[in-house]
Amino acid sequence: GSFEKLPVARESRDELSQMGVTFNEMIGLLEENYRKQEEFVSNASHELKTPLTVISSYADLLQRRGAQDPALQEEALTAIRTETERMRQLIEQLLHIARRSQAQMDWQKTDLEPVLKQVMTAMNASYDRDFRLQLQQPLIVETDVQQLKQLLYILLDNARKYSEDSIDMEAGNNGAVYIKIRDYGVGIPKESLPHVFERFYRVDKARSRETGGFGLGLSLAKELADSLHLRLEIDSIEQLGTTVTIVFSGNFNVEELQSGQEG
Ligand code: ADP
Repeated sequence: GSFEKLPVARESRDELSQMGVTFNEMIGLLEENYRKQEEFVSNASHELKTPLTVISSYADLLQRRGAQDPALQEEALTAIRTETERMRQLIEQLLHIARRSQAQMDWQKTDLEPVLKQVMTAMNASYDRDFRLQLQQPLIVETDVQQLKQLLYILLDNARKYSEDSIDMEAGNNGAVYIKIRDYGVGIPKESLPHVFERFYRVDKARSRETGGFGLGLSLAKELADSLHLRLEIDSIEQLGTTVTIVFSGNFNVEELQSGQEG
């Protein structure tokens, strides 16, 4: 790579060598980051090129034969519109990722019930599907509501895309506050589970192209969870469904939060 490391022997004990070792470790992290950025840009460009290729091929066809062939005209225009929409979605998600690093956190002690109800009501209104909410007790957490909602929308949207049945959200406290989102859909193969949080990773590229995913949703969910200090767990059985659990790292009760302490 383009990064120069210091020539230090790992076994050296003096302070200067130790600093050299630390420096080299930092360079290693930078290199890794740089490599990931390059990979990201290359993936994004590739994903944008695919719809562009379709669009320009159909534009060529239209120009050559469109006037004589109304059926082709219809097909071409539909394809161009679909692919344009796909590009728009991807660009929106890319902008989202780019802006995330500057997002300011707005921590507030929050009653989860109205938040979860709003999210479920919005999903029920947008899709012809049964989104069900079960909340066991009042749950107070400290969080950034807008970012938590974004995270929930990503997970609920996946549950909807990869299943046809109803979707259950359950929130409770079993030592830590948790939110579970459960679907009864296609599930994720065991060997794919470790990869689903990677950018641009999709289990089934052909199927994903139909449902419109780019493999960015869960990577964004992971970033949101990290900045919200949440743990994400994913359990899935193929053909039975998927459960994603959000775990809040700290426990709070109202009095603690009012006195401004964190648990
Ligand atoms: P996409 O936008 O393609 O859905 P994600 O990053 O959200 O990308 O998810 C990565 C991949 O993980 C998806 O392409 C899909 O194969 C799989 N996946 C995510 N959520 C679910 C789910 N609830 N059920 C089944 N598969 C899922």
